[in-house]
Amino acid sequence: MRKFFLTFIYHFKTKFMQYLLEQPVHGNIGKEKYKCTISWRNGMLTADEPVKTGGKDTGPDPDSLLLSSLAACTLITLRMYIDRKGWDIAAIDVDVNMYQAMVDGKLVTTMDRDIRFLSPVTEEQRSRLLDIVSHCPISKILQGEVKVRTFTYSDADLEKKVKYANEDGAVIWKPELCRHSARCVSGLPDVFDVNAKPWINAHGATTDKIIAQVKKCPTGALSFAKE
Ligand code: SF4
Repeated sequence: MRKFFLTFIYHFKTKFMQYLLEQPVHGNIGKEKYKCTISWRNGMLTADEPVKTGGKDTGPDPDSLLLSSLAACTLITLRMYIDRKGWDIAAIDVDVNMYQAMVDGKLVTTMDRDIRFLSPVTEEQRSRLLDIVSHCPISKILQGEVKVRTFTYSDADLEKKVKYANEDGAVIWKPELCRHSARCVSGLPDVFDVNAKPWINAHGATTDKIIAQVKKCPTGALSFAKE
């Protein structure tokens, strides 16, 4: 546990980061080929594989989901800009697809998007919109450097927990789930302080404030157990 804690402090001080989403996108798969349940902030959707690869095609496959993200971001970014400018463009279509090729031993993915404005646009508007959409948030992610970090744990790992008690109960911290997003540290520094020992002071704020902050932990590493 001590080794983990030192690693935890190191990550905090060198890799301070804030997740984009308050809650992670959550996925689950059971034995039914290949139905995945994907939960997001306000609902659920199904992902699957097409019949030709053994699924039942009950939802978009992973490639389609990736392209859907670019399609949605393209349309939303255009709509926001067009509305801000007060231009009369009623509807917009977008088609997105991709192909892959090995170039110098490296897999290169090229995404093509075709945007069609369902109202007349001037050349000046078209050029401005092309520039805006080239910098939409998902375009920036896809064209920037992307790293995928993968952590694995089993139910047994999730049992590891540390308790920090106060008069109403205890803050429970599950170190294996902590991703050092530091949301707790910036949100309630009198309670969560990586320079203090112990790093959680359950007497540093009212229990209501602590519970409110604990609920904002994006990974589920924090909870509060009332006595
Ligand atoms: S406990 Fe939660 S909010 Fe705090 S650093 Fe870890 S993951 Fe982030």
